[in-house]
Amino acid sequence: MIEKLAKILGYDGVLCTPEDLAVYSYDGTFAEGVPRAVVLPETTGQTSEIVKLAAEARIPLVARGMGSGLAAGSVPINSESIVICFTRMNRILEIDAQNATVQAEAGVVTADLQAEVEKQGLFYPPDPSSIRHSTIGGNIACNAGGPRCLKYGVTSNYLLGLTVVLADGRILKTGGKPIKDVTGYNLTSMFASSEGTLGLITEALLRLVARPTQVRTALAEFDSLANASHTVNAILAEGIVPATLELVDQTAIVCIEEAMHLGLATDVEAVLIIETDGSDESTVVREIDAIGRICRESGARTVKVAKTGEERDGLWKARRSVGSSLARKAPNKLGEDITVPRSAIPEVVERLRGISAKHGLPIAIFGHAGDGNLHPNILFDKRNPEQWSKVQRMMGEIFEAALSVGGTLSGEHGVGVLKRPYFEHALGTVSVDVQRRIKHALDPLNILNPGKMFED
Ligand SMILES: Cc1cc2nc3c(=O)[nH]c(=O)nc-3n(C[C@H](O)[C@H](O)[C@H](O)COP(=O)(O)OP(=O)(O)OC[C@H]3O[C@@H](n4cnc5c(N)ncnc54)[C@H](O)[C@@H]3O)c2cc1C
Repeated sequence: MIEKLAKILGYDGVLCTPEDLAVYSYDGTFAEGVPRAVVLPETTGQTSEIVKLAAEARIPLVARGMGSGLAAGSVPINSESIVICFTRMNRILEIDAQNATVQAEAGVVTADLQAEVEKQGLFYPPDPSSIRHSTIGGNIACNAGGPRCLKYGVTSNYLLGLTVVLADGRILKTGGKPIKDVTGYNLTSMFASSEGTLGLITEALLRLVARPTQVRTALAEFDSLANASHTVNAILAEGIVPATLELVDQTAIVCIEEAMHLGLATDVEAVLIIETDGSDESTVVREIDAIGRICRESGARTVKVAKTGEERDGLWKARRSVGSSLARKAPNKLGEDITVPRSAIPEVVERLRGISAKHGLPIAIFGHAGDGNLHPNILFDKRNPEQWSKVQRMMGEIFEAALSVGGTLSGEHGVGVLKRPYFEHALGTVSVDVQRRIKHALDPLNILNPGKMFED
């Protein structure tokens, strides 16, 4: 098999030493699994040839971008698997300013794509906090969100078309530059959040918008976490839709400050990071002023509006480093991704605190509160069996808290392996049956990321 793969990719494109394989055995979670080989295609044609070989030999193929996933979706849990990693397919093929689209290969790093289109005054809004270490293909496969999704929507809202290698090696092209297209089923959408189980995405056509020229960013500090979560609804109830509305609780703030020394106040129970943007300065300023007033009326101790680009970058540095800062605090963290109706945020935040107190393990709460998307992160030591069994119970209780208010298990990270046991409970048997049938129709041999999303 290695010889056959090397014929397609050259020896440089096939990795199989223990050292190389170890590097591809993880994602952003604590899950691990060593693959049999790793392949690094450079073209759609090579990807198709690899899939044909794998189908013939019935070898599982695990798609991988940069392995930043938080659901163990790209972890090769089956030791027979070959990881197919798209980081060498990192070309931006076309920026079409007139139609406001960009055509890119799956392995382009999201921040690189954003920087390139911004040079032409255009804007690609989806901005996962992992923007510098995740790929367009991985973002599509997980339908990634991010802070800006409150105003701008998630990755699938920008997806116009795809090139996908199917499980039998055929190459499917979906969509195109027309904004409206109802010719047949919406296959493009079907691959968003398919987590590598339905096909291998090799190229994407993405919609762009005009780059906002005005931005204002504020940090509101609260002595009460409950007040901070009530404020989220108070802002949106006034009809203001900020670009971002992020919540970070005290546990997370303390970890960030210990790691980054950014001068954050560590005696507050929560902060909100709020940004308004647009092309008209007076509107953007009026909105941030109104938000400041609402925050103060809702109990904020202070509201600081960034005066310079540097101050703004500092606030975003703080927010984007939550994950890595928490990772320094305990040997392991389990980052959940529940999404609840916005009105239920205060109740769910209280329940999360209750779960933490009941089991005696810290839960840091942060996330895209404007979307109702919270990332409760349990900090623990997996080597301690008592803590690990508590974490498993806590995970179930966190999901129950979300489902009981009409929420869902995942807003942007996907199901992967970690949420698989709760998938059917959350969606019901009919939904899971329909999804299984789609999977079977597209991948009858079950070679594309088997064991992810569904229990095999
Ligand atoms: C610090 C940190 C912050 C994060 N913040 C956010 C955030 O704000 N918002 C958010 O949505 N996520 C966030 N994430 C999660 C993660 O970055 C996203 O899920 C991202 O989309 C994964 O991209 P990736 O290229 O790393 O994919 P991987 O982790 O390599 O893969 C993820 C899934 O996509 C599949 N896949 C990857 N490439 C392809 C392809 N070409 N074709 C088919 N399937 C493919 C894999 O099989 C797997 O199931 C964060 C992660 C970290 C570590």
